[in-house]
Amino acid sequence: MKTANELNNWLAELAPDYPLMIAGPCSAETEEQVLATAHGLSDRRVQVFRAGVWKPRTRPGNFEGHGKKALPWLKRVKEETGLKVAIEIANAEHAALALSYDIDILWIGARTSVNPFAVQEIADAIKGTDKIILIKNPINPDLSLWIGAVERFYQAGIRNIGVIHRGFATYRSGNYRNDPNWQLALDFKNAYPNIPMIIDPSHICGRRDCIYDMSQMALDLKYQGFMIESHINPDEAWSDAKQQVTPKVLVEIIDKLCLRKEVFEEQKIIDQIDFFRSRIDQLDNELLTLLSERMQLAQEIGKIKQQKSVAVLQSDRWLEIMQKAIQKAEKMNLSETFIQNIFKAIHQESIDKQEKIVRK
Ligand code: PEP
Ligand code: MN
Repeated sequence: MKTANELNNWLAELAPDYPLMIAGPCSAETEEQVLATAHGLSDRRVQVFRAGVWKPRTRPGNFEGHGKKALPWLKRVKEETGLKVAIEIANAEHAALALSYDIDILWIGARTSVNPFAVQEIADAIKGTDKIILIKNPINPDLSLWIGAVERFYQAGIRNIGVIHRGFATYRSGNYRNDPNWQLALDFKNAYPNIPMIIDPSHICGRRDCIYDMSQMALDLKYQGFMIESHINPDEAWSDAKQQVTPKVLVEIIDKLCLRKEVFEEQKIIDQIDFFRSRIDQLDNELLTLLSERMQLAQEIGKIKQQKSVAVLQSDRWLEIMQKAIQKAEKMNLSETFIQNIFKAIHQESIDKQEKIVRK
């Protein structure tokens, strides 16, 4: 999107004082559950109530949402609490219904943003709308696919756009339900700094005990808001029970979050930081010089390997280097993984350089 700068700053209007907080149940189950949760969330730091009315379930036979029947419940939420409301839409019919019920924010789920046909169908159905559209990252870690989904809405004349980082599916079961893959989200942020990025810690974590940590991490990385699942009675939820928190716990999480300033403000501190940074710049230069010298030596060895027709990889020597480095690193307060990663990268570069020489 060459023209991402033309995006409107919808966020400043919606959440002028705090980061954006979108909260509410995974699914709209009953009118009572929706209203009780919304009243519990009508804290001044929550601006938007979310609830899924169409639920994309991985396997059939689970609760798939009430659909249209639940839309009037959200109208009541708006009237009674003053909160804005958000739902997920996954096709043109959902889109038209959401617009006709005056839903404020429409989000595109991870299972939809993977599918360009579906995304285009929705973009065509809401062409030119001034509603806010939030696009979740696709299930698979594909930056272009995520950007492509945003572009389809942009090309449909939509300017109130944001993205939601909800993590990426992996086959191996890890610490989280979805791999956060922070680097991919940061690549998006760096490429499109004008598009607000929101974290969905509920779907990344898949369990409620790490929602605070994940949220603080996102704040530290300058995310502009949150979408967190909250249910009046989480253990009884019809979907995603393990990851939902009560409105009370959600407010406790918000209270605990530490908002950091954009930049350092006091001159004394700025001077101190500048001093450390200039030392770091010096050391980085030295590191580069050392690496370059090291590679030159590896190339000299490469020439001898070529002359004598000896294999590039010398495993014993490599293992010895790695072992020594790890032993030293421990005493120098450097983690084993860090040193392993650095030395693997150095070794790979040496091999590439020698490989070029022996092939001449
Ligand atoms: C949801 O927000 O409830 C949801 C289904 O999320 P995702 O598309 O991220 O899986
Ligand atoms: Mn959910």
